[in-house]
Amino acid sequence: MKVVGYCRVSTQEQAVNGTSIETQKLHIQNECKKLGYQLIEIYIDGGVSGNDGNRFALNRLLEDAKFKTFNCVMFTKPDRLSRNLGYSINVVKSLEQLQVKIHCIEQPIINKPGLMFNILGSFAEHERDMIKERTDSGRKAKWKSESSVIGSLPFGYKKVNGKVEIDDLNSLIYNRIVNMYLNQNYSMKDIAVKLTAEGIPLPGASNNKHSNSWSSTTISDILKNDSYTGITYQNKYVFESRKSKKTNKSYYAATNVEKDKSEWIKRTYPKLIDQDRFDKIQKRISLQKKKPKKQHSGLNEHFMADNTLYCGYCGTRLRKLKTNEGKLKYTCHWAYTTKTDLFLSNRNKCILKPIDAKEADDRIFDEITEIISDPGHFAQEWLRDTNIDELSDKVNRLNKIENNLRNALLDGFRLVQESDNPEIKQIYKDALRNKEQEFSEVQNSLKNANNELFFAVNKVNHLAEFQSALEDAAKRDKIGIYFSAKAQFKTFLCNLPFQEKKRIVGAVVSPEDGGKYLVRHPTLNDIADDTDSIPEDELYTSLPAKGHILDGIFSIDLNRIQSIISSLNYMELLSSAVPG
Ligand SMILES: [Zn+2]
Repeated sequence: MKVVGYCRVSTQEQAVNGTSIETQKLHIQNECKKLGYQLIEIYIDGGVSGNDGNRFALNRLLEDAKFKTFNCVMFTKPDRLSRNLGYSINVVKSLEQLQVKIHCIEQPIINKPGLMFNILGSFAEHERDMIKERTDSGRKAKWKSESSVIGSLPFGYKKVNGKVEIDDLNSLIYNRIVNMYLNQNYSMKDIAVKLTAEGIPLPGASNNKHSNSWSSTTISDILKNDSYTGITYQNKYVFESRKSKKTNKSYYAATNVEKDKSEWIKRTYPKLIDQDRFDKIQKRISLQKKKPKKQHSGLNEHFMADNTLYCGYCGTRLRKLKTNEGKLKYTCHWAYTTKTDLFLSNRNKCILKPIDAKEADDRIFDEITEIISDPGHFAQEWLRDTNIDELSDKVNRLNKIENNLRNALLDGFRLVQESDNPEIKQIYKDALRNKEQEFSEVQNSLKNANNELFFAVNKVNHLAEFQSALEDAAKRDKIGIYFSAKAQFKTFLCNLPFQEKKRIVGAVVSPEDGGKYLVRHPTLNDIADDTDSIPEDELYTSLPAKGHILDGIFSIDLNRIQSIISSLNYMELLSSAVPG
């Protein structure tokens, strides 16, 4: 195989380790050596942003490809080619036409043309949008730096000679609040209780003599305040006069109605949080809000996996249920709803049978225990059991079905439009409605499968991260302390109070990042020893009598796991008994 390499680094990335041209070159040289490929040349674009189509070296490479002096282009990651999906596809297509293969080192699964590339490519595109937004906001902040502030400063800042600066101590507390909420999965109330217990002074404590403890409202105000992202707008919302029911006094309160943009007053602050982390916080707050209020009070010590369980068939978040016999179950709403409801929501009855709540909780907590007590090992085992090719086949299959249904729907619409006979029109319409239902179900399965695939690829990447982290001596020591007695650590986790366990499950799975457990029934594909002799439609038919399968789809993030472990009570951990 005759190979050329392609490296790209953006101006911003040039300073960052691991993406530098030298690292990329070395990767390519090693890969060629490993595979016995002949490396002819490396094309390099330096200081070119990922969404810029104007790239000299890549254009030269595409020109040179026409002379067939090489038959493979090698690069380290998909986003090196481009962060723009359309552009990447064009490059790959032009190479394909010239019978030149692509070889991506870190994500070899994309080397097969087609689907994988779409998924990874769209991820890179999203990342590029985020970078663009960050640099834009940085630039604008420079143009229009304003130092005057209306009202009091957000917690974490101070005013020095009329300018807003970061307050060292309080900004650390802000970071801690974010970490506790986002990584350690504490509730706002828990955070308030912890900070109060530690005697940490309240925001504006000196002029607030009425209260000496943190409240969940204070934490909520801080977490929702977008000033920390660097830019906020004041005078944004219309105020209205309201009357207090208690005191009967009038007061002014902000409504959700936005004023005209010309009236907004822009304020800039030194940045304390990235936009994407801020967005994740808002996502978690909104997920928290959607929770049905006081469903089964008195069951606080049950339903540990409540926020993380979704139906593997229709994608709905599972509900908690207490049966007449007092048994606790998780169920899919669309499996147990009235015909009228199904009709009104244009859905089919879901086939998921309820799962025993304790059983599901135990299985998930066991898996979470495995993950945090030995993440590297878990990731490796997981990798061995997961067949990414199979997953991508599944997505392909669903894509085909989706496409066929889409065409059937279009044909149906045309028939309804063209027919003059009202009876025939009605028949077509009914048929169309059935197809539409089927279509939405296939789309749901497709979404699930795509999700699964995305997280699978992510896990593979994280595994590489683990391995390199473990090679790093400093980190190895740190991890060594955590995992010195794995069995002891496991016992400790099992003995934690229920609410702590629940917090840890949520922290590891991290629903605000899209992580979840999908509940489904096994198919022959899961349980049969010899799957080759079984026809495909039987292979993938669900078998409710065979119990449930729980597929965890989330990324294992080493930093997050370290953060979760650091939220545990060390003294208790160290003094808990070593088993055996
Ligand atoms: Zn369902």
